[in-house]
Amino acid sequence: MSKISSKTSKPKSLKQRHRFFLNPYIDCAFTKCPKCETKTKIRKFPLVIHIQPQQLFLLNKQCKYCPSCDLIIAKKQEIEPLMAATFVQTNPQIVGNNYVVMGTVDKKDWKEGDKNLLSPSEMIGRIYVFKDVWNFEVIPAGWYPNKGKQ
Ligand SMILES: [Zn+2]
Repeated sequence: MSKISSKTSKPKSLKQRHRFFLNPYIDCAFTKCPKCETKTKIRKFPLVIHIQPQQLFLLNKQCKYCPSCDLIIAKKQEIEPLMAATFVQTNPQIVGNNYVVMGTVDKKDWKEGDKNLLSPSEMIGRIYVFKDVWNFEVIPAGWYPNKGKQ
């Protein structure tokens, strides 16, 4: 197997859409958007996950979605067991590796990819990478002096 060194520069050809937040909090469901406080909707997105060193994983996942921010929120604790369950049989040495949720694909491309009809390079051509990845820190609920909203 030849090793491909991954360069961080993004190819210009990649299409972009949506923003993304990987929710690391077990007890925070984000029923409201952490950015604009709109009530989030529940929608399925075919997510594309890149696992080190070079494994693509497609996951049609129910996520929280804020339509006004175009923000997808996926729970870390829900994604990781699904990845582990998939690769523990086929490719156990990558379980636990670093990974990045890099974007989404169209439903029809997800279906083809899921049936292994697409080569990895064909798949990459169909990925929409996220326009932006956001991070939010959650302050535990409790009694705090009112400092006003930023
Ligand atoms: Zn929002």
